[in-house]
Amino acid sequence: MATTKVAVVTGSNKGIGLAIVRALCKQYKGDVYITARDVGRGEAAVASLVADGLKPKFHQLDINDPASITTAAAYFKEKYGGVDVLINNAGIAFKAADTTPFAVQAEVTLKTNFFATRDMLTHFLPLVKAGGRVVNVSSFVGSSTLNKCTPALQQRFRSDDITEEELAGLMQQFVQQAQRGEHGKGGWPDTAYGTSKTGLTVLSMIHARRLSKERPNDGILVNACCPGWVRTDMAGDKAPKSPEEGAITPVYLALLPAGATAPHGKFVSDKEVQPW
Ligand code: NAP
Repeated sequence: MATTKVAVVTGSNKGIGLAIVRALCKQYKGDVYITARDVGRGEAAVASLVADGLKPKFHQLDINDPASITTAAAYFKEKYGGVDVLINNAGIAFKAADTTPFAVQAEVTLKTNFFATRDMLTHFLPLVKAGGRVVNVSSFVGSSTLNKCTPALQQRFRSDDITEEELAGLMQQFVQQAQRGEHGKGGWPDTAYGTSKTGLTVLSMIHARRLSKERPNDGILVNACCPGWVRTDMAGDKAPKSPEEGAITPVYLALLPAGATAPHGKFVSDKEVQPW
């Protein structure tokens, strides 16, 4: 088994994920993996970095496919004994002009951004080694969505005692209410993407508390972050930040130095802890 350190970035065949891998290839002392659901797109991304003199590695990983997650987890356990850096970057968003019914948007968006990322963490969090760093790429939209929820939901999403099961139940409730056209009555704003990112930020906080309790001496740091508004296929070409600029905060969190104790369980943007 290799003693080499390893960093894994989901959804890194393009956009912010690819820029994160590019930066890590330059700064991280260890192997850096592009992962992609589509092998062809992943290999093309690898080739684009190799052309720049970098040496990323590749593994297939579709976070919506449980078998793909378990295959990848087994690979990193076998080859590296776990992972040192995990960046959950894969995500989707319907365009504002998309006419897909909100009920469908709610189910599809929550499935990838919240439930599939949670599945990733279920399998990969136990593999994160002492001193490891976990970065979940969330969004400021999740923060503004939080502020538009009812006071009762806000209270749960800000509480220190919300469990992963309660959070997953609330996310499921949003999807079910959206399917009945009743999410407004249920206290949720009209945004599937925002709700998925509220959930991801809260999940990061829950996992940070759990690791502090269950593995207090391992020094693992878990954070959620916003990359900013970044020119990618998701956000379009009018966004102010380049993918490289969008990668700065996720990479900062991934490379927090050995022995650092903070930030942990926070939502971070522009390298600063943000109010939640
Ligand atoms: P992007 O260019 O659309 O890239 C998204 C990446 O996620 C692609 O590589 C995509 O793969 C991958 N992906 C989607 N579903 C996947 C799945 N089931 N399994 C594995 N990979 C999957 O978007 P981006 O702007 O770089 O976004 C990256 C992250 O930043 C997302 O979580 C997004 O919500 C977040 N974010 C972006 C902005 C922004 O302004 N761009 C702002 C805040 C937060 P395919 O190529 O196969 O589709």
